[in-house]
Amino acid sequence: MRAMALDPAAPGRLRAEARPEPRPGPGQVLLRVCACAVCRTDLHVVDGELPAPKPGVIPGHEIVGRVVEAGPGAERLPPGTRVGVPWLGFACGRCRFCRRGQENLCEQARFTGYQIDGGYAELTVADARFCFALPDAYGDAEAAPLLCAGLIGHRALRMAGAEARRIGLYGFGAAAHIVAQVACWEGREIYAFTRPGDAAAQGFARRLGAAWAGPSDAPAPQPLDAAILFAPVGALVPAALRAVDRGGTVVCAGIHMSDVPSFPYDILWHERTVRSVANLTRRDGEEFLALAPKVPVRTAVETLPLGQANDALARLRAGQVEGALVLVP
Ligand SMILES: [Zn+2]
Ligand SMILES: [Zn+2]
Repeated sequence: MRAMALDPAAPGRLRAEARPEPRPGPGQVLLRVCACAVCRTDLHVVDGELPAPKPGVIPGHEIVGRVVEAGPGAERLPPGTRVGVPWLGFACGRCRFCRRGQENLCEQARFTGYQIDGGYAELTVADARFCFALPDAYGDAEAAPLLCAGLIGHRALRMAGAEARRIGLYGFGAAAHIVAQVACWEGREIYAFTRPGDAAAQGFARRLGAAWAGPSDAPAPQPLDAAILFAPVGALVPAALRAVDRGGTVVCAGIHMSDVPSFPYDILWHERTVRSVANLTRRDGEEFLALAPKVPVRTAVETLPLGQANDALARLRAGQVEGALVLVP
């Protein structure tokens, strides 16, 4: 099968390879990849910003696939079934975190497209227990960004608090364009902060219902109840703390961020909170995939052939994407 994989000789780029077809083990399904969205985390994997990826790993963790063959014990997903494969590829089910509903924090967790080969390929295998049923209302490419941008955005929005009405989004990419739709549907107001000068992203945010859109170095037009940071830029943490009101929460939703600069205590004072959001639980997925068609969330996607994965990553790095890019083998 064709795949785009990490090349130890050339960090920052993927190598087109012909790999043997994977076989489904016990509890696994073999999937034909129909679509795989490109996530900021893939860029962190490819750029070597996350520790110890599987050598030569195939990235991609927003996979829409159809079952080709079910391994022993995975018969509940017969051939032809469409499923979604997210970032969380395995959790132990026994540790203190798994037992209290926090499998996203499992110390034995393994992640798709990082420790497990992912969806930048024609075929992949996945643990059937971690595959999601997908709402019929979405085509393959349209469903793909729901699987990380949507799920992580949903978890981050919940961490911002049910009472938070005015929400700042820093970085208006795949996740923010989904969160904005959900938040507006819930009656909240969105304030979109983009790279300075990125008029296209600001216009995109306004078209999706943002009450305000402007550059990330501008002050918020009014105090925010919460802010969610999708851009991997540590300097945005103090900027967001200055934008939130007393009691407000700043949620860092990315897996990696440049160092956070020091800041005066008075911008944290008055019970402001800074927190991160890590990974997802299967419950997040079930909740969000039930919610998305009710809003309804409409994903803006642009499809590219699998062989153009490096172009897709370069465009994501440069911020030249409206919504999400999706690779189609
Ligand atoms: Zn565990
Ligand atoms: Zn992701």
